[in-house]
Amino acid sequence: MAYRPPLLTTTHTALARPAPNTTDDYERWYTEASPNNRMLLSLRSGIPSEIAWAFDRLCRLCNNEQFLFRSIPGLTNTLFEWPEWYIAQNAADSFKLSSLFAMPSSEERKRRHGLEALCIMRNAAAVNDANAEELVNHRKAIHLILSALHNVQPDSDENVEFLLYVTDLFQYIAPTYTLPPASAPQTISPLLPLLDLIRRTPNRSLIVSSLTCLYLLFSNPANSSRLTANSPALSASLLYLPLLSDRVLVDVCINYLYAHLSHPSMAKAFLHHPDMPSTLNLLVTQMLSEQIEDTVSIDIGGPTHTAPAQAVLIKDHELSKEELDGLIALPEPQRCYEWMKLMFVAKPDGELTQVDFWNLYKDVFVPYQDQYHLLVASDVIKNVNVVFPQAQAMVLPGPPQKFVVRGVDRRKDDRSNERFKCLWNRSECNSPPSSSASELYEHILEHISSVEEHGQNCSWATCPREPLPKLNLRAHVLTHLPSVQPPSKHPTQSDTITLPSPQHVYPVSNPTTRPVPPLKTTLSVKKPVADPPSSSLTALLCIRILFRISFTSVEAAPRVDADHFGFPGLIEEDEGMEAPEDSGLSDSEQEGQRRGRRAFSRIRRLLEGVQIRDETLMGWITEMIQSQSQSQSRYRASGLTRAGSCLLLWLVTFYNERPVCIKICYNVSEVVRGTFYNTFWKVAN
Ligand SMILES: [Zn+2]
Ligand SMILES: [Zn+2]
Repeated sequence: MAYRPPLLTTTHTALARPAPNTTDDYERWYTEASPNNRMLLSLRSGIPSEIAWAFDRLCRLCNNEQFLFRSIPGLTNTLFEWPEWYIAQNAADSFKLSSLFAMPSSEERKRRHGLEALCIMRNAAAVNDANAEELVNHRKAIHLILSALHNVQPDSDENVEFLLYVTDLFQYIAPTYTLPPASAPQTISPLLPLLDLIRRTPNRSLIVSSLTCLYLLFSNPANSSRLTANSPALSASLLYLPLLSDRVLVDVCINYLYAHLSHPSMAKAFLHHPDMPSTLNLLVTQMLSEQIEDTVSIDIGGPTHTAPAQAVLIKDHELSKEELDGLIALPEPQRCYEWMKLMFVAKPDGELTQVDFWNLYKDVFVPYQDQYHLLVASDVIKNVNVVFPQAQAMVLPGPPQKFVVRGVDRRKDDRSNERFKCLWNRSECNSPPSSSASELYEHILEHISSVEEHGQNCSWATCPREPLPKLNLRAHVLTHLPSVQPPSKHPTQSDTITLPSPQHVYPVSNPTTRPVPPLKTTLSVKKPVADPPSSSLTALLCIRILFRISFTSVEAAPRVDADHFGFPGLIEEDEGMEAPEDSGLSDSEQEGQRRGRRAFSRIRRLLEGVQIRDETLMGWITEMIQSQSQSQSRYRASGLTRAGSCLLLWLVTFYNERPVCIKICYNVSEVVRGTFYNTFWKVAN
């Protein structure tokens, strides 16, 4: 409905005011802080169209964070009028026939205003804490909530909406609200209608809201005496817990469960609940579903040693075929002299072992020793001085002694131009490598010029090209020229070479002789990357509570008296999972613990998948997993069933005439265990 400006305005005041904010919902006349605020006056006017206009404005304004109830004195009080009427009508069953017959329009309107008024309160409280405080402290608030809970039934859409607003408002009061004792008249307690609501409504929002009210109520220790083991709220939270994808609903269920289990007697009673094992399972599943993990690789191998990769451009000279042919037939010692001149150069700080020297000679000439005389090793070494007068054969003192020839070194070949080597005549061309690609091309053209006019095969290395005319052959050989840049590496090839040890020399002339480096071992493990959300933590608290009450008596020391020195291992077990004797618990409690431990042993695998970044919380998980393996092996031992299993030995010593129990755990074989038992039983007696 359009706003009608006030009739009385003077040019005077209009000029004196700052420029009005005309943004929607921020106009001065809506938020004017005075008892004669136009909306308040409209509400109180009793004129239906005015009231409707005011509610329309307020419904929009209540979502504005600047909207404050206390800035319009009297507004809160006035707003309560319509919901109160709504409740009174419900109490009198006046709406009963509304689903069948149309209501009078005036009632229909008032009913709508009742819903609107609550909606305004609820929204205003949600966007601004000051509004929530104002409502909570209002004298009519708790009465309105209680009478609504008791008189409005969730049997129509309007009533469900009404109850939703009421329960939402009650959430601001619930944390500090103390429930009246069970003996007091229940009309002044919100507990029964809330439980009834949970049991009856299928509406998700209403379930979430009323369950929230309940867990807030029971988070207050003063109210825990009103908890019951078969509460409909517990059944509801167990019923909706499996809806893991509905985070909001599951969150509320877990919160209620935690409030319920926080009371020790409720937790003990819950161990007997038929849904207890599946609930434990769900709580762990919930934690797993909210787990944020990342896979990390951990290197557990030793350190790796690398060296920057480099190409071997300088190499020791090897005899070419021509050089060898020229040498073989020469008479000794002339042959040895010529061989040395080809293979070695004088180098004052150079050094070669005499063995290397002899081996090099021997490897070349031994194949021809049948036809041509071979020198003995000592002669070869002596000849070094003839060819290289400044070189000297000497013995380096050890240990170990080294026999070397100093002053010579291997002749080196520069291999940097190797890629410009001509491979014509099927790699037989013996001209030295060219210095560049263009020089090589000039050289190849010389080969081609001798080719006959009608053409021939390409003679480059192993080129399979079919015969080509001379002209085309010139173009074809261009494909064999190396690129000006050195060949690029494969993208996966690293810039470093992995060496077997830091002492290893790199580069070596023959890379295939380099030993294989030690194996690199990496482990891939999953690690939590973020802290779990609060619902996971609450789930963990619930699991922890159940764990503590299921396992308490296992750690409790057995009572020691004249007859019993506390050998729990001597009780024969059928189940293999029973509390030790004398734990001071009633049969029902022992049965509950047995159920609890059985349930925990079933979720052990699931628990092992839980990862939490916080060490303390992770410690809880580890404790749960470990205590089960301990209790299992302990009970196995007590059943005397398995050789070598864990023996729990209660060694009794007498100290000041009073028995002191020392618990010792031994991992011993059946035989040894029997001996131990006999020995200590005798000692103890
Ligand atoms: Zn050539
Ligand atoms: Zn070719």
